[in-house]
Amino acid sequence: MLKLKTAFAALALASFAAMSSSTGALAQGKGTIGIAMPTKSSARWIDDGNNMVKTLKERGYDADLQYAEDDIPNQLSQVENMVTKRVKALVIAAIDGTTLSDVLKQAKANGITVIAYDRLIRDTPNVDYYATFDNFQVGVLQAQSIEQKLGLKDGKGPFNIELFGGSPDDNNAYFFYNGAMSVLQPYIDSKKLVVVSGQMGMDKVATLRWDGATAQARMDNLLSAFYGSKHLDAVLSPYDGISIGIISSLKGVGYGSPDQPMPVISGQDAEVPSIKAILRGDQSSTIFKDTRDLAKVAADMVDAALGGKQVPVNDTKSYNNGVKVVPSYLLKPVVVDKGNWEKVLIDSGYYKRSQFD
Ligand code: BGC
Repeated sequence: MLKLKTAFAALALASFAAMSSSTGALAQGKGTIGIAMPTKSSARWIDDGNNMVKTLKERGYDADLQYAEDDIPNQLSQVENMVTKRVKALVIAAIDGTTLSDVLKQAKANGITVIAYDRLIRDTPNVDYYATFDNFQVGVLQAQSIEQKLGLKDGKGPFNIELFGGSPDDNNAYFFYNGAMSVLQPYIDSKKLVVVSGQMGMDKVATLRWDGATAQARMDNLLSAFYGSKHLDAVLSPYDGISIGIISSLKGVGYGSPDQPMPVISGQDAEVPSIKAILRGDQSSTIFKDTRDLAKVAADMVDAALGGKQVPVNDTKSYNNGVKVVPSYLLKPVVVDKGNWEKVLIDSGYYKRSQFD
């Protein structure tokens, strides 16, 4: 009986301890972290924001999460407010990576740690760390999926291709484009790939604010100016939202029928509508970047920097922001298509099967 009582008391004590430590973990008062995200118009940033808040809470921080709907002055004033409120650290996915220099000077003067989230913040010494994916590799994977689906390695071709780039104020867009061109350029040089419009280089193919409607309008123009009697076989698209615009444009002129099959089209972010487009055969592939992992890396950086510990980085040479090389942690992107989407996206618990019924 005594034994039982002791065991019961021990159990009660243990569960009390567990309770207080878990509430303790949430209310350790380690301070507030400001999180500035670009827009809610794309599901990935919503996931990023939610995952950041969750992960920071688990580590004992409060979070102030703001979205700026792709409006640069809006994001600037959100970050200014966070600095005024004396957050301990800022985690920023910039809309325009070059517009934050003044506010970050202010942040540094107040001892605030600054982490660039997914997108590099440029032209300032006042960014401490960068948490992202291997952005060059994203472009390589997009182009390799085009290479593979066209059979270029087996010597097939020539094929007609058009190129789309991301937003010119987002450093990532250049990494994606350059990564893709490292695979595509040799085929263009050997004429196995033909850019019928001749439009190449980020100055010609960029899509401001990653806007799908802008991409759709450009695709409309390309099709009417250059593809009257020619078939378009492939489109390099850097982002799912841009692919959606491209697909609408193509369908508008009759692509997607047996005598005018859809071109091979790439993408990025593995957003639900685009996985559905892949299952329908409208899009060929996308790139999955697990925002749970990115949130974890960014939260680890915050926690280590504020705790005076060594901050986890695995790349100290790739990301020069114009003023300095920003120590970075690069995660691995994964290419997704009809063949592996369930394994990558469902088995990992990122999405539920029912979202695709
Ligand atoms: C991100 C991509 C995203 C794009 C548009 C880039 O900075 O790295 O994942 O597709 O922005 O939101």
